[in-house]
Amino acid sequence: MRVLRRVFGYESFRGAQQEIIEHVAAGGDALVLMPTGGGKSLCYQIPALLRDGVGVVISPLIALMQDQVEALRALGVRAGFLNSTQQAFQRRQVESAFLAGELDLLYLAPERLRVESTTSLLDRGTISLFAIDEAHCVAQWGHDFRPDYLALSTLHERWPTVPRIALTATATQATHAEIASRLNLLDARHFVASFDRPNIQYRIVGKTEPKRQLLELLRTEHSGDAGIVYCLARASVEKTTEFLVQNGIEALPYHAGLDAPARAANQARFLREDGVVMVATIAFGMGIDKPDVRFVAHLDLPKSVEGYYQETGRAGRDGLPATAWMAYGLADVVQQRKLIDTSEGDDAHRRRLATHLGAMLALCETVECRRRQLLAYFGEQASACGNCDNCLSPPESWDGTIAAQKLLSTVLRLDRERRQRFGAGQVIDILLGKKTPKVTQFGHDRLTVFGIGTELNEVQWRGVVRQLLAQRLLAVEGDYGTLALTDSSGEVLSRRRQVLLRREPERVTQAAPKTPKPRRAAPVELPEKAVPVFERLRAWRAAAAKEQSVPAYVIFHDATLRQIATECPATLAELGTISGVGENKLAKYGQQILTALAASGATTTPGDLPGDLPGGQQFERTPLQRANCAEVAFIEGQHSPGVQSRRE
Ligand code: ADP
Ligand code: ZN
Repeated sequence: MRVLRRVFGYESFRGAQQEIIEHVAAGGDALVLMPTGGGKSLCYQIPALLRDGVGVVISPLIALMQDQVEALRALGVRAGFLNSTQQAFQRRQVESAFLAGELDLLYLAPERLRVESTTSLLDRGTISLFAIDEAHCVAQWGHDFRPDYLALSTLHERWPTVPRIALTATATQATHAEIASRLNLLDARHFVASFDRPNIQYRIVGKTEPKRQLLELLRTEHSGDAGIVYCLARASVEKTTEFLVQNGIEALPYHAGLDAPARAANQARFLREDGVVMVATIAFGMGIDKPDVRFVAHLDLPKSVEGYYQETGRAGRDGLPATAWMAYGLADVVQQRKLIDTSEGDDAHRRRLATHLGAMLALCETVECRRRQLLAYFGEQASACGNCDNCLSPPESWDGTIAAQKLLSTVLRLDRERRQRFGAGQVIDILLGKKTPKVTQFGHDRLTVFGIGTELNEVQWRGVVRQLLAQRLLAVEGDYGTLALTDSSGEVLSRRRQVLLRREPERVTQAAPKTPKPRRAAPVELPEKAVPVFERLRAWRAAAAKEQSVPAYVIFHDATLRQIATECPATLAELGTISGVGENKLAKYGQQILTALAASGATTTPGDLPGDLPGGQQFERTPLQRANCAEVAFIEGQHSPGVQSRRE
């Protein structure tokens, strides 16, 4: 508890953190399943600080080790890493620090443990614990298997007295069991937290003009925020990035078609700068522990609920409100079906893919609480959440049995009478009685079903098609996305089954110039007075981060700046009570923060100094503060206060 306060500057533990920390600090083994953002890192960092020796952290995220170590150093924790990106002399430095007992934590890439020199190095030092991060990588049937992880099963044979803690955010029970057996953690204590992420608001909307819809979301709700936009294909990543940039959004692309340096550069900017939007394929994201990602948007349907949950989980790790938003339409279903039909692998594999897609569609089309459905998918019971689109504005459902019958019998007729199949477009044209060239060419205007569906418009019919697909009452096949009946279609046609459908919201055709809602500049609602203060602190942080070339959140999280802006501490002692301000950061940045606060007029302003600033309450001023304010008057109007040089 003292370490939590002193080093990390946090007030209290979250969830089972304390229990886990006590267990591991006392030498016990643990397997920890906790959602992204749950606070897994502290579970091994604090025991490592409490126990004798160096905590060895195995992590597959080589590209992010530097940042992780940097973040620890900013807290005053002595950390280092060993991986293949280093030069020999850099490795030697870390190795001698390890042997001299000058490290609290050592991050290792798993493949290092295969190298005899590494294991003998570990033999010569004192190890306080092994932490196995991203432990699901040991699961062969998981989605992220790393062969190097199999070697970790021998850790306890070679170092039987060193406690081990394995951590993952991957939820399914099968993976859990596999991790336990492969890492020999069957006798360890298992800590399984709820996977709920209550601060994330889940929303799934009908796709009309996806890029515009996205822009609208960014402009009205997430202006200036960092976020990730997922697209299925490289081409759409490129196009979407271009579109956003043209519209004044700071967006960068990321996909496997870019060369490694370009990818690394874009990732670094996303991590280090404030408010960058990353437009990416799913190649991006594993291990991204940026805490202040305020939204994750999907412009294409993810392939599975697991994938979707993992990707959206990258939003709001700091616990502040965040948005998971998806635009989804009929074309997505057709496209995914096509990918499945043409995918490599056997029938069983294709069936698995189809099951995944089915679960995803069910989530999209549900009229119930999205979160409840998501959690149920991972085997957790929950009640309606109040923080998803369906909870916030419950969709109406309507009896779509007759509409479904009309649609299904049109598909049946095309199939039976002509032995030809058509896509949704043609079927809907027939229902609406449109004499398009393609309709007359095939004589479809002479079908008895021609024009029987004019009570709905095209958008509504597309909604019916989608929902019938989601309910498996209709299937879509082949390259052209042709519609076909399923085994269950007959139940509807013969009136043995009622079909409930979700009402499609009226389509907003003209993007009428929206009166831009007065929106917060800060990512989360702040008291009005605190907004400019927050912005000022953010600017200070950006300058400091740049100077030290570390991500902004390594200096302070948004949540911390937000609390500072709201509470306006007037002294170092007061500042030290704010969550996220530990001893080291207080010593390093405290003065600068007080200065920035005074400069923004948030704290007391000395009347006897030039450049009186408005709005300050009067506090008892200490000599220190007087000095601050004098300094402010000096710094104001020049440049942002400098920062101390980076700690080696
Ligand atoms: P995970 O690895 O489980 O995804 P992290 O360890 O990165 O999560 O923690 C998520 C965020 O929550 C981090 O920014 C971390 O500093 C913060 N955090 C963790 N524990 C606490 C706590 N007890 N109080 C306040 N913030 C915390
Ligand atoms: Zn809900």
